[in-house]
Amino acid sequence: MRSLVMKFTLLTGALIFAMTFMLVTLESVSAQRETRNLLIDRNIASLSSAASRLADSFSSRDVEFVGAFLTELRDNMGADEIYALNNRRELFVEALADPNTAGNIRASAIAVASLGAGDIRHELNGTTLHLAVPAYTSQRRLSGVIYAQLELTELVASRNAMIKRQALLALFALGVFLPLAALLVGRALRPIQTLTEAARHASSKTLDTRIRINTGDELEVLANAFNRMFARLNGNLKRIHRLAYVDMVTELPNRERFRKETERVARKALEEDLTGAVLFVDLDRFKRVNDSLGIGEGDRLLEMVGRRLTEVVRGCDLAAGRMDDPSMVARLGGDEFTALLPSIDDSADAARVANKLVDAIRLPFEIGGHQVFLGASIGVAVFPQDGADPETLMRHADLAMAHAKRAGGSAAQFFEPTMNQSAFERLVLENELRDAVQKDELVVFYQPKVLMKDGSIAGAEALVRWQHPTAGLLSPGAFIEAAEECGLIAEIGDWVLRRACNQAASWRAAGLEIPVAVNVSAMQFDREGFSQSVIEALEDANLPPHLLELELTESVAMENPERVIEQVQPLRDKGVNFAIDDFGTGHSSLAYLTRMPFDVFKIDMSFVRNMTTDPHSRIVVETILAMAKSLKLETVAEGVETAEQMTMLKAQGATLAQGFLFGRPMPYDQFMEHAEEAFVPRAVGE
Ligand code: C2E
Ligand code: MG
Ligand code: MG
Repeated sequence: MRSLVMKFTLLTGALIFAMTFMLVTLESVSAQRETRNLLIDRNIASLSSAASRLADSFSSRDVEFVGAFLTELRDNMGADEIYALNNRRELFVEALADPNTAGNIRASAIAVASLGAGDIRHELNGTTLHLAVPAYTSQRRLSGVIYAQLELTELVASRNAMIKRQALLALFALGVFLPLAALLVGRALRPIQTLTEAARHASSKTLDTRIRINTGDELEVLANAFNRMFARLNGNLKRIHRLAYVDMVTELPNRERFRKETERVARKALEEDLTGAVLFVDLDRFKRVNDSLGIGEGDRLLEMVGRRLTEVVRGCDLAAGRMDDPSMVARLGGDEFTALLPSIDDSADAARVANKLVDAIRLPFEIGGHQVFLGASIGVAVFPQDGADPETLMRHADLAMAHAKRAGGSAAQFFEPTMNQSAFERLVLENELRDAVQKDELVVFYQPKVLMKDGSIAGAEALVRWQHPTAGLLSPGAFIEAAEECGLIAEIGDWVLRRACNQAASWRAAGLEIPVAVNVSAMQFDREGFSQSVIEALEDANLPPHLLELELTESVAMENPERVIEQVQPLRDKGVNFAIDDFGTGHSSLAYLTRMPFDVFKIDMSFVRNMTTDPHSRIVVETILAMAKSLKLETVAEGVETAEQMTMLKAQGATLAQGFLFGRPMPYDQFMEHAEEAFVPRAVGE
């Protein structure tokens, strides 16, 4: 830009110079002409007066007098040569300054003098003046001509002076007008400078720039166009930024933004020796709630969760005075959120925040007039110790979260290096489990359920086992969870159901009318067409429905009661029985329980195990038994291992029991043998 001002200034300077020079030259030329005429006139006058003085002397041919006179005149006029010619144009007298040039001059004198006989003649050659003046006698007779040749030195001097003056004037004009021109050009170009500056600023820094130009000309129009362009670009950039870095459902930062921020913060922590944490938050039960609410309400719920998480984190920042480096909550997608705590004192700080988050999510959410209960499983990775880059930190926090979830959810768990190993093992396990289903490595064991009063077999629970090629016989604890997580549980569950129905049908054919109970996992139960697949399994095995009992855990049964009723009712209508498994661990609402279509409560073995020593467990068992009695439901006490437990249960009115005391889960053949010995057919109505 500076160069543009410079260019314009130089151009204006050149113009000023040229114009001044031209004007001064014009003026000087006329002055010069005047000077020249004046000089010519003066010399003509001198020569004319000499001519009138000498006219008579010419006639009298007084050479001596004329010669002396002309020599004096030559000196007075400063002429080079003066000649006198007679009326026949013959050289009469000559007065020479430089005899060497005499020949030439003489010739031109004759030439000039002959030209206009009787007239005054002059000729200017450069600065050399040739003058010829006629001399008339008092009788007005031409007696001769005086010719002079002289250098007009004054003319040269005046010409030199003129050039000097011109240059001085032009320089003066430049000196005065150039700064003025620079000022004016600078002022005229200032809006362009402003525009350029704004464009440069906008291209390198921020588009929030506004150009203020009020010149009322095209530049103002241009500036306004720039402003509109910046505003539009800015809007578009912000929109792009929002799409790239903001989660549209919750308006929280998204995964990418969280990743970037974690990267920055983790690097800073390494450099400045700080401690921070990444919290991976996964909601418990969200999928079910979302399915029952519908997508729109589900999104609103996520928004509420996001807000609640943000509030808690902000509150913790405030309490710990961390406002300079605030924590960030982001949504990764689905029901997964994350929190980044950039600077904490120690891991206990992170634990405090994580526990507060767990507590906050546990409080009910009010949505569509309903109260909705969620939980949050949180994994915590502390940096730099658990990782220095966002990928590692998030993976480790995720692993820790999975542990928290597996341990029952609604809790926080710190990452531990062994989790990496177990995650790998889990991967191997999942792959092997896929093979196991294909290679028919699964078997079903049966555990007897007995009547308390006489120990006779009243039923059998089908429990799956995996005959692992190298690890031996694995119980479901080792693989059911993995099967649930990788989606194989539905396939396994289906297989167990069909197998159990077939085997129950075959022991029925052998005369043992023993009902079989099959465990149903949440995922299997949730599937469309579950009821139909059960009916088909019964039909294919030719097993009467009343000989099948399906066990649902209390948490599955209570999570979405409407859905349970929908799935259970058609099967119950056919005669299939339903049991709530592990009852007492899910803190079910009693109001719901009375409405639920269940036939059997299976009291969780933790209460049975502790009831002889822990009064609280005993009260729980008592309460469940009393409640079941009033609801006219059957109860099965699970995990009865000692006679003491059995006596106590009997005294409290338990009717059925299952446990190692009566028989461990066993293969089909062994169960058949055991049942043939112990089976006592129950009388109708018993
Ligand atoms: P569950 O349905 O509560 O089954 C009872 C569990 O308690 C069985 O463990 C059984 O071996 C064990 N048990 C029975 N009596 C006693 C006792 O006196 N003392 C002790 N300590 N344990 C006793 P198991 O076979 O390891 O099964 C564990 C859980 O795996 C089952 O709990 C059930 O929830 C699940 N499961 C088993 N088979 C299947 C299946 O085919 N499908 C699904 N979805 N889950 C299954
Ligand atoms: Mg069970
Ligand atoms: Mg159980």
